[in-house]
Amino acid sequence: MIFILGIDALDYELVEKLNLNNLKQLEYSKIVVPINKKLGHPLSPEVWASFLTGKYIPKKFPEQPHFTRFLFKLNSSLKIDFSKGVLKKLRLLILKRFLISNKFGNLNKKTFLDITQSMEINVPFYSFDNKTFDIGHLFGLEELSLKKTVNGIKLIYEDRKKQIFSKIDNIRNEDVVFAFMHTLDMLSHCAFLRGSEIELHYLDLDNYVSLLKRKLEDSFGDVIFIIVSDHGFDFDKGTHSMMGFYSSNTHLISNPEKITDFYKIILDLVGLNHC
Ligand SMILES: [Zn+2]
Repeated sequence: MIFILGIDALDYELVEKLNLNNLKQLEYSKIVVPINKKLGHPLSPEVWASFLTGKYIPKKFPEQPHFTRFLFKLNSSLKIDFSKGVLKKLRLLILKRFLISNKFGNLNKKTFLDITQSMEINVPFYSFDNKTFDIGHLFGLEELSLKKTVNGIKLIYEDRKKQIFSKIDNIRNEDVVFAFMHTLDMLSHCAFLRGSEIELHYLDLDNYVSLLKRKLEDSFGDVIFIIVSDHGFDFDKGTHSMMGFYSSNTHLISNPEKITDFYKIILDLVGLNHC
């Protein structure tokens, strides 16, 4: 069985600096990921879509509702102040409705999960529950303090760790299991200036990976355990950095250089010919 743990925003440099051996495993490296042309850095929905399908899949953003566009126009041309009173409330209400939606959206392409005997645990485009995006937007709209946001992210993280553990008990004859975590990305965005908070999260992740691998080995014997990240993090600027990360507890036959290489690697490992 191949168990893939996708950790959004796991940063190669910080894993290296903290020397986190459970995250580094037997082999590890930076990997090339697609860079979104508009933003100039990797965009998670594009990178995870590319990982799942083996091809670069640009993200199509949903159109903003007419009324929001109208509001923005009024805001810039007539200089109407939406920062106070009823207008502020109205703006927040509309933005919330627009922003709090499924960030990953749907993916109308076949992924390696579709063509293998697989299980997904909170994976983008499948059953991702969007909780981290929701809490991040509330922080962005200044509806949650930094303290409450960080605590909320930590609660989601603890919940996710338990969820992955309990789902392992449901594995029967799956060849590929893909579990995903988005809490590190959101914590990095909201609390990137709190270095010690971030480092503690990395240490906890390292410890969790060790427990997870032990549980998998106890239940299934030899398991190929692969960790993948869609981008790193620039903690000075508070933005995504350009390279992804992977590690594996087994030497992979062909060394992945790009995140799209995993599609073929995974199919080869489960014995499916790739065309
Ligand atoms: Zn991010």
